Amino acid sequence: MSAVDCAIVGGGIVGAALADALSEAGMSVALVEARSIGTGTTACGMGHLVAMDDNAAELALTSWSVSLWRALAEGLPRAVEYDACGTLWLAADAEEMAAVDSKVSNYRAAGVRVEVLDAAALYEAEPALAPGLVGALRVPGDAVVYPPLAARTFALRAQARGARLMTGTPAQALRPGEVVLANGDVLAARHIVLAAGVASPSLCPGLPITPRKGHLLITRRGAPVVKHQLVELGYVKSAHGTEGASVAFNAQPRVTGQLLLGSSRQPGVGTREVEAAILERMLRRAADFLPGLDGMQALRAWTGLRPATPDGLPLLGPHPEQPWLWLACGHEGLGITTATGSARLVADQLLGRSSAIDARPYLPERFLGRTPRQVAHA
Ligand SMILES: Cc1cc2nc3c(=O)[nH]c(=O)nc-3n(C[C@H](O)[C@H](O)[C@H](O)COP(=O)(O)OP(=O)(O)OC[C@H]3O[C@@H](n4cnc5c(N)ncnc54)[C@H](O)[C@@H]3O)c2cc1C
Repeated sequence: MSAVDCAIVGGGIVGAALADALSEAGMSVALVEARSIGTGTTACGMGHLVAMDDNAAELALTSWSVSLWRALAEGLPRAVEYDACGTLWLAADAEEMAAVDSKVSNYRAAGVRVEVLDAAALYEAEPALAPGLVGALRVPGDAVVYPPLAARTFALRAQARGARLMTGTPAQALRPGEVVLANGDVLAARHIVLAAGVASPSLCPGLPITPRKGHLLITRRGAPVVKHQLVELGYVKSAHGTEGASVAFNAQPRVTGQLLLGSSRQPGVGTREVEAAILERMLRRAADFLPGLDGMQALRAWTGLRPATPDGLPLLGPHPEQPWLWLACGHEGLGITTATGSARLVADQLLGRSSAIDARPYLPERFLGRTPRQVAHA
């Protein structure tokens, strides 16, 4: 096999977006995927492109990434289902409405447009919601995509510029300048980027990535009409717990008249079976917010494994002890959103370009190497 400038191992949305970015910059690229493009965690995600403000680094990466998606939107095929529906963060009580105030200042400081809705404006926007909510924060620039086809679109754009899509055979080992495939073939590459999501530690032992299981369910058509991605503000509390299972209301309107409902989080759980007890908790929570869901039939429920890091931020950059190996993994529950920005940050470092945001908070050296920098848990 002829050598390439960059071999990317893992054809999820992160690897595919990187193949797109590097091939656009003129690099020769091979994308090595064990199965087919976008069939890992990417195929299990909700596809909410969301600016999240748990900490400054997360907000910088997510808000920039959402703006990169917006710039791409017009050129995306219809099948990617980009929908600029915006997000409504729902406040159930005065305490959650107070959280809206701090979100407003975080978002505005980062240049993200937001609007505060009182109860009357909220029910005008979303009449299907249960009574009793006190207001919401609207983030109109957020959007939704269909993740597996978004990943495929990135990979096909790269292929059209000459990138090699090597699907159906896993990489078995990574060595300086070489990717060894399970069929014995060896791919020579000047740079190697590991983008294998939750499986990344199997090719690079010691990476601080663990699974965080999540459940989703899609209804049949005829679900209550919802216009925004709806997320309860209580989600902020449940999303970052490190112990025990948690659920929070999260609903996404699909163009088909279905609703995609989430979500649950089970830190450290790496099994894929649907758990009836978790699903039931999740659906009860959803019906609290959308009473019209009562009696509604589900079409399908499934799970996925988020690749979680201890501080909730991805690993983007060179491995400090193996500088020939680059990392683009550990995107937890935000990898669909941040695929665009992550790809740009890694491409910028590989090409020696400056980046639109500070790349340092995402460097792998914060955990790896002889004296890893300590990072507070977000
Ligand atoms: C329930 C749920 C809901 C979510 N909702 C959202 C959301 O609304 N918004 C959002 O931004 N994010 C969301 N996420 C998170 C998002 O789905 C992930 O962060 C993202 O898909 C990670 O992408 P990835 O490319 O890193 O990993 P993956 O998609 O898992 O891709 C890794 C690829 O590597 C391949 N691979 C593995 N081992 C090898 C090997 N040895 N050789 C070659 N290839 C290999 C796999 O086959 C896979 O295709 C959600 C996740 C879950 C589980």
